[in-house]
Amino acid sequence: MSKGAVVDFNKCNPSECTQGICPAVEVCPRNILKQDEPGEPPYRLMQCPACGDCAAACPLKAIFISQN
Ligand code: SF4
Ligand code: SF4
Repeated sequence: MSKGAVVDFNKCNPSECTQGICPAVEVCPRNILKQDEPGEPPYRLMQCPACGDCAAACPLKAIFISQN
């Protein structure tokens, strides 16, 4: 697995986030996380600097950071 943030779509539930807007997308400093439409989960990540901000912002702990 590449280093970076990974969304667990078994845990992600956009309807429980503020108005369907993913808080993790909003905090990503590099705009790596994407959300095409409100209510859609953020796009799966391939690589990022693994800063961890998105994981900290996700209320359902649906994002984990791979350091490998
Ligand atoms: S904050 Fe977490 S649960 Fe909510 S849409 Fe984003 S990744 Fe999914
Ligand atoms: S770990 Fe940091 S850079 Fe990577 S997607 Fe999350 S917030 Fe963005």
